[in-house]
Amino acid sequence: MQNNSPTKSIAFTAIDEQANALIGLSKDVWDHPESGFREHRTAKLTSEFMRSIELAPRENIAITGVVAKLDTGRPGPHIAVMGELDSLIVPEHRNADPDTGAAHVCGHNIQIGNMLAAAVGLSQPDVLSALSGSISFMAVPAEEYIEIEYREQLRESGELEFLAGKQEFIRLGELDDVDISMLTHASPTESRTLQPGVSHNGMIAKTVRFIGRSAHAGGAPHLGINALNAANLAMQGIALLRETFRDEDHIRIHPIITRGGAAVSSVPANVTMEMFIRAANVEAMQDAEVKVDRALKGAAMTIGATVEISTSPGYMPSLFDPALGDLYEKSVVELLGESATGRVPHRTSSTDMGDISMMMPTLHAYASGASGRTHSDEFEITDWQLDVIDAGKAMVSTVIDLLANDGTSAKDIIANFDARLSQEKYLETLRGFQRTETWNGE
Ligand SMILES: [Zn+2]
Repeated sequence: MQNNSPTKSIAFTAIDEQANALIGLSKDVWDHPESGFREHRTAKLTSEFMRSIELAPRENIAITGVVAKLDTGRPGPHIAVMGELDSLIVPEHRNADPDTGAAHVCGHNIQIGNMLAAAVGLSQPDVLSALSGSISFMAVPAEEYIEIEYREQLRESGELEFLAGKQEFIRLGELDDVDISMLTHASPTESRTLQPGVSHNGMIAKTVRFIGRSAHAGGAPHLGINALNAANLAMQGIALLRETFRDEDHIRIHPIITRGGAAVSSVPANVTMEMFIRAANVEAMQDAEVKVDRALKGAAMTIGATVEISTSPGYMPSLFDPALGDLYEKSVVELLGESATGRVPHRTSSTDMGDISMMMPTLHAYASGASGRTHSDEFEITDWQLDVIDAGKAMVSTVIDLLANDGTSAKDIIANFDARLSQEKYLETLRGFQRTETWNGE
C-alpha cells in the first residue's frame, strides 16, 4: 500500500489542477442535454477534452459513443471507466431544452466529468509507470430506455440492433477484452457520500396494441369492439396478479396507455400501451412476462378484440461485485473519511450497467451531490466537487489499487468472479426476448 500513495497523490494533484475545466465541462453538458443516440454535442465535448490531455479517442461508436485507451505497456487486466452521455426528457424541468424537452434529471452529465477526471489522473506518466494492464475511458450513449419508436427506426435502418448504449457496446465488441467496469452515478442522498450499489432490477419492455371496431359510441355501441375496455381490463388483470409475485423478486410492472381513443363519440378501435416488467432476476422477469401476456390475451378475449404484443429486451438485473465494492470503499475512506461510505441497497429501477455486471466484475457507485426526485422536474446537482472531482479521484484510487503491484488485486477479483452469462449467451438471451405476437380474441 505505501508505494501506492505517492502514485495517488500525483494523480490527485493533476485532477485538482484541472478541476475548474472538469466541473465547467460537466456544467456545459448539464446546460445542453441530449437524449440517447442523439448526444452529438456532448460526445464532441468529451472527445475534445480527451485530445486536450493527449488521449486519442475513437468516435461514433454505437452512433455517439467515444472511447480512449491508455496502455501501461505491461500486460495485465483491462479496466473500463465509463460515463453515460444521455439525458432524459422532462420538459417541466427549469433547464429543459426548449425544443426537445431534454433535461439531465438523472445527472449523467457529472459522469462525463468524473470519467474525464479519472482520465486526467491516470494518464499522468508517473502514474501509468506504476501500473500494469490498460484502462479505457468510455463515454456511452443511451442509458435511459426512452423514445422507443425513434430507436426502433434506428434499428430498422440498421444503425442499431439493441436500444441501449451498453448493449450496443457489447454487441460491437467494445467490451470483448475488458475485464472490469466501473461508473459513478449521481444520487440525491442527504449525507455527503460515495457509495457502491449492490443490485438493481432488470426489465423487459412491451408495446401493446388492442384493435377493436369503431361504431357510434352512443347510438350503436353493440356494433363496436371497445379496445379501450380491453386495455382497461388488461391493466386490472395485471394488477390482480400481484399476489403471485414473491417479495424477494421485487416485481414492478408499470403500464401506461399511450393512445386511448380518437373521438369521444366513437367506440375506441385502436388503443396502444407501453409497459416495463421489472424483477430482480431473469427467471422472475420471464415468469412475470408470461403472466402479463396472459392478462393481455384474456382481456382481448373478454372484449372480442385483437391484441398485438411487441416484446423487447430491456436490461439485465444488476449484481455488482462485492469485492470491487470493498476496494472502492477503502478509497472513499482514504479520501473523505469513514462516514462517506456504506452500501446503497437493492434498487427496483434498472440500468444497462446490469448487462455488463452479468459478464464481468462491475462497480456502480453513487455520488450523493444531488437533490430532488430523480427523473423529475425537481432534480438538481448540488455538489459538483463531490460528483465530479472526488468521484473521479475515488475511481482513480480504485484503479491504482487494482493495477499496481502487477495488477494482483484486479487479477484476484477477476479470478473470484462467477460470470452469470458469457457474452455469447448474453446476446442470445437478449435476442430471445425480442418477438412480436398477434392474438385474436374473437
Ligand atoms: Zn441514470
